Amino acid sequence: MFEQQILIEKAREIGDVVKFLYQRGWAPTSNSNYSCRLDAEHIMITVSHWSKEHLTKESFMVLNIMGKPLNQASNSAKITSAEFQLHTMLYKENKETKAIFHTHSVNSTVLSKLYESQDEIVLENYQMLKVFSGIDSHDVKKIVPIFPNTQDITVLVKQIKQYVTEYPDIHGFLIAGHGLYAWGKNISEAKRHLEAFEFLFECELLTLRLRNQ
Ligand SMILES: [Zn+2]
Repeated sequence: MFEQQILIEKAREIGDVVKFLYQRGWAPTSNSNYSCRLDAEHIMITVSHWSKEHLTKESFMVLNIMGKPLNQASNSAKITSAEFQLHTMLYKENKETKAIFHTHSVNSTVLSKLYESQDEIVLENYQMLKVFSGIDSHDVKKIVPIFPNTQDITVLVKQIKQYVTEYPDIHGFLIAGHGLYAWGKNISEAKRHLEAFEFLFECELLTLRLRNQ
C-alpha cells in the first residue's frame, strides 16, 4: 500500500504538467496518458476518462511493474488504456526512468506520418538538443524512431522493447499518426524532454514547409 500523501503529491505534480501541455495544444482530449514510478516495483498511471481540468489521486491507478493493478481501495473499478503495457515495459527496461508522458500533438502526428517510411526522424544541429539528458553539444544526431501504429499493443511493445534494448539512450519515440512518448529521470525531466521534442518537431515542420514553397 502506498501513502495517500505520495499519490496526492505526484498527482498534483503531473496535473501541473498536463495543464501546461493542454494549454500548448499538445494534449487535446483526454486520451493521452501519464505515469510515474512509485518504487522499483510500482507505478501510477492515469485511468481512462480522467479529467484533465484537475488531476487528483483518483485520476490514477497503481499497477505493479508487470501491469497488475494493486489491490488498493482507490484502485477499485478503475481501468486504464491498453497502452499501460508500453509504460510498464519502459519502466522495466530502464530502472532510471521515473516518469513517462504520452501526448497526441498535431506536430508529432503529422511529422510521424511524413517520416513513417523512413522509420525515424534525425534531429541535428539544434542548440535545443542540449536540453536532453546526456547531450552536451548541438553537434549531434538525435534519432527519434517511428513505429507503425497498431491497435495490437503486444506487437508495439515487442518492437519498441527490441529498439530500446539496442538503443537505451533514446528519450522518446513516435507512433505514426498517433503521437509521442517521452520520459525522464523525474517528472520535470520528462516534461523538459517532451517540450524539447515538440519544439524540434515544430522546427522540422516549418523548415519542410518553407523549403517546399
Ligand atoms: Zn495514444
